[in-house]
Amino acid sequence: MPTAVPAQVSPPVDPVIREAQNGIAVWHPVAIRDGRLLVIELEPVPGCPDPKIQWGARTFSTFAAGVRRHSLLPVSLGATPGDKTFAVVCGRRKTTFSVKVFTGDYPESKLSVDPRFTSRPPKRTVEESANIRKALASGPAGREWTATFVRPTAGIFTSTFGVNRTFNGKVSSRHRGLDFDGKVGDPIVAVNDGVVVLAAKDYYFTGSAVFLAHGDELYTMYFHMSRLDVATGDKVKRGQVIGLVGASGRVTGPHLHFGFKLAGTYLDPEDLMDYGQVPLLPTDR
Ligand SMILES: [Zn+2]
Repeated sequence: MPTAVPAQVSPPVDPVIREAQNGIAVWHPVAIRDGRLLVIELEPVPGCPDPKIQWGARTFSTFAAGVRRHSLLPVSLGATPGDKTFAVVCGRRKTTFSVKVFTGDYPESKLSVDPRFTSRPPKRTVEESANIRKALASGPAGREWTATFVRPTAGIFTSTFGVNRTFNGKVSSRHRGLDFDGKVGDPIVAVNDGVVVLAAKDYYFTGSAVFLAHGDELYTMYFHMSRLDVATGDKVKRGQVIGLVGASGRVTGPHLHFGFKLAGTYLDPEDLMDYGQVPLLPTDR
């Protein structure tokens, strides 16, 4: 049974602003909730065709987006709130800007699952977790995805990203994905071009699942399937059917759990689906 989507999980995000320094002009949100995708838009920089972005301890690429360039940066769930800086790097020139990170008011949810899922997991989960970790560290280095990301299935959202969950009143975890309502047999499609880095058959927690690498450390994942239509190593195209909705693994009923990971960080999949659909960033959620 689908449950209602929780009410607004955070206050509205402040609007996007344009800032310019040292001949570098960027568009970015004034503030962003933990767990969200931070999109930086750069105006063309003369003499600097391929600027990089420093964010935290890492350097991120930029890519052409119309006449401007974009960079996609992760803001992890539970990130320390406060002013965070990102730097636009052009050769030896480094220009720093600031974004306010705040903590989302994520709702709680109590779920009842088969008691076997809240007792000690079987031995096979050790190997399954290792396979998933390996898959999420492999795939093409360069960007394979293009344009925008489609919805993986037609259903409505039944549980959003970041919800604090308790299973059978015992095990607690954060919901690191977005759940779509669905019937067993509904088609699931790849949200963009990529490579299947793991087609998992009947894993204990994820059930039958597909992990796609879209390149440049961007991954999407699709859990609880009733049928897999792809195999590890396959190349897929945006909109291609990769399997069917099911109720395999740790579930309360048939649905698709859709996850999005960027540079080692699980982020809100709604941001991935919104990316590029509006001229600038959405400001209303
Ligand atoms: Zn889920």
